[in-house]
Amino acid sequence: MSDTLTKASTTITNKAIDVVIIGASASGLMCAIEAGKRGRKVVVIDHSNKAGKKILMSGGGRCNFTNYNIDAENFISHNPLFCKSAISRYTQWDFIALVNDYKIPFHERKHGQLFCDDSAKDILTMLLSECAHAGVQIKLKCDVHGIQKTANEQFSIETSAGLLHCQSLVIATGGLSIPKMGATPFGYNLAKQFGHKVLATSAALVPLTLQNNDKAWLADLSGIAVDAVVSSHSISFRENILLTHRGLSGPAILQISSYWKAGEPININLLPDIDIESFLKNRQNEQPKTHLKTALAEHLPKRLVAALLDEDLLDKALQSISHQRFNEVAERLHQWQIKPNGTEGYRTAEVTLGGVDCDELSSQTMQSKKTDGLYFIGEVVDVTGWLGGYNFQWAWSSGWCAGQVV
Ligand SMILES: Cc1cc2nc3c(=O)[nH]c(=O)nc-3n(C[C@H](O)[C@H](O)[C@H](O)COP(=O)(O)OP(=O)(O)OC[C@H]3O[C@@H](n4cnc5c(N)ncnc54)[C@H](O)[C@@H]3O)c2cc1C
Repeated sequence: MSDTLTKASTTITNKAIDVVIIGASASGLMCAIEAGKRGRKVVVIDHSNKAGKKILMSGGGRCNFTNYNIDAENFISHNPLFCKSAISRYTQWDFIALVNDYKIPFHERKHGQLFCDDSAKDILTMLLSECAHAGVQIKLKCDVHGIQKTANEQFSIETSAGLLHCQSLVIATGGLSIPKMGATPFGYNLAKQFGHKVLATSAALVPLTLQNNDKAWLADLSGIAVDAVVSSHSISFRENILLTHRGLSGPAILQISSYWKAGEPININLLPDIDIESFLKNRQNEQPKTHLKTALAEHLPKRLVAALLDEDLLDKALQSISHQRFNEVAERLHQWQIKPNGTEGYRTAEVTLGGVDCDELSSQTMQSKKTDGLYFIGEVVDVTGWLGGYNFQWAWSSGWCAGQVV
């Protein structure tokens, strides 16, 4: 690993460059590999001291690198059909074949998500060795000071490592999440410089924070995780929710955060597998002396139930509770509505919603419709995947498509 990274830091050689890719991570490295295999002279530059930092930190260090089920429906974009071409040309099966070529052990988790058995390093090492085989130069700790298109249809890129000229320029600088890992608005600014529309960006796949009044009564529940269905508008996700000292997290909350709009409530069904009203009515017949809290504890953590329902009611025996009250209990537990205060923002978000408007890019090649030779790939584009390996698949697919033509 360290060998590959050291090689990645060598200075840019002076031979003619065909393609410059800015951003040495998922999408940029995939594009570089493909262009390099076609015999193009490729230089990848990144201001960071290491390639693929987000790959290394992804999936809790095990990189959820793709998903067995990839479909346009798993992506959010102002133009929902844009991603179709790329994800059908370079599919999850293509990436899995590459992972298998490198004999990287992996496993499937819930909902078709594929993770490395050992470490996300395996994926980065694979990409860097493919780059090395394809003759790609990677220059790290390299800042870009300015980019112009010259009269002879070349791009001239002023960098801390000198002036570079190329025919094709690929922007693979990602979104705004985790600034500490090197995220910058570079790609958006460059898009605007070349006349592109950039759709409003916001943090996504991110924990939600609570209003002060909700924080107070939920504070003691930190650490509780429940399998739930979380909904906003017409979209729902079934997964765990996790109560934390800052608010709501867990996979179902991260998923819904990509759809949630400020000021709106989210709905949480804490008991997706049972009809709690019928359960309570049956239990009332069979064991009338059982207390409500004891009956509910069969399905939900006691502390959560105690926080959500009235204490006096919970202490009552089922025989003394009306069916109307059971109905109210069911409504609270099946349709718990809570209005988040906001999100934790880019500090902890996995991805950025919005970005370079895909209507101004070719869906086949990712080339700008405004400037020949300019390409945008990966997260910088207004295509955001669900949690579950979709964002990497978009990076691989869009990078691969551009790599065929740059
Ligand atoms: C904590 C975390 C976990 C994640 N886990 C998963 C997961 O398991 N599965 C999944 O599918 N997705 C996951 N994601 C999302 C995924 O990492 C991204 O969607 C993906 O990395 C996007 O790839 P990219 O190449 O477009 O951009 P990035 O990976 O963000 O790479 C952009 C590169 O550009 C460089 N750069 C930025 N600005 C400049 C500049 N001004 N000059 C030079 N270089 C610059 C950066 O240093 C970086 O190397 C996770 C994200 C986070 C934050």
